Amino acid sequence: MKTAQLLPPFDTMYRALLGRDSSFEGIFYVGVRTTGIFCRPTCSAKKPARENVDFFATPTEALHDGYRPCLRCHPMENGTPAPPLLQRLQVEVERAPGGRVTDKELAALSIDPSTARRQFKRHYGMTFQAYHRARRMGLALANVRRGARVEEARTESGFASESGFREAFTRIFGSPPSGAKERGGLFAERIETPLGTMLAVADDTGLRMLEFGDRRALERELPLLRQRLRTNVVPGEHRHLEQTRRELTEYFAGSRLRFTVPLAPVGSEFQLRAWKILQSIPPAETRSYLWMAQQLGIPGAMRAVGRANGTNMIAVIIPCHRVIRADGSLCGYGGGLWRKKWLLDHEQRHRGSANGAKITAGGK
Ligand SMILES: [Zn+2]
Repeated sequence: MKTAQLLPPFDTMYRALLGRDSSFEGIFYVGVRTTGIFCRPTCSAKKPARENVDFFATPTEALHDGYRPCLRCHPMENGTPAPPLLQRLQVEVERAPGGRVTDKELAALSIDPSTARRQFKRHYGMTFQAYHRARRMGLALANVRRGARVEEARTESGFASESGFREAFTRIFGSPPSGAKERGGLFAERIETPLGTMLAVADDTGLRMLEFGDRRALERELPLLRQRLRTNVVPGEHRHLEQTRRELTEYFAGSRLRFTVPLAPVGSEFQLRAWKILQSIPPAETRSYLWMAQQLGIPGAMRAVGRANGTNMIAVIIPCHRVIRADGSLCGYGGGLWRKKWLLDHEQRHRGSANGAKITAGGK
């Protein structure tokens, strides 16, 4: 489930942790279940018992699993300590991890919002919003999918008030936690990939959504699914999510470039047609926006094509990353240009070995 293949064996990491071995800096991060905090291997804090640790390859994974960064060893920093402004900002986030820190609130603390955002991005390599979003999603998912009752979930996640927890949960999944277990036509799960945590949503019809966890669109797409399908999104297992996870693992390992999990995207007739055309682009190949507009039978509709691609909710599997400018340059990708480039390079590298790859991983 986590990117376990990127991590050393458990015993090796646990030994490094006890020995505060600095050679493991940046190799792994450790989440401590009893405190909900994640640390560097060398943190000076008391070392946890082995049954209470979760290991992660990146700070983002730890965040998405519901952990917050340790204020002693600052696991999100690379070498240089954070400017005092950023330390204050993080404290503010923890004061209301399920809520939002608005510009107005920042201003009231005499923190200039734009300076804060700029510094945060430069120092941590992720935007303040992405960080906050990761914390919110991590907390809501981690607690509710552990099957915790509302009350426990609230206390464990450190929400100051029950209404704060409900509000955060509702914002992300659209239904209050008490109703979450009985209803729920849509199931959501985190999937770890080399490009970051993804959130997958499926029901009996098929995969509805697959999106990178740090995307702003996530908070628009979940409510949209809920509305269109008139149901709630709840954390939980589903066979289509299992299959998605398995095929994604094979995709990222390079042994599969084509997906067979049933897809059930939600969109307008135009969007659905556009996404169908995207699916016809073979792995490791690219097409232009112009080509897509022509396929749709409206050659002038490049803008509309761009929009349809931008609103694709099933990243990677509906391959909007395979559409580039006519001059060959990459342009806009909701998940970030670096991901688009990574995906295209990856497919190029494995086009031979995974050729036609329906099932190359032993049908497991
Ligand atoms: Zn620490």
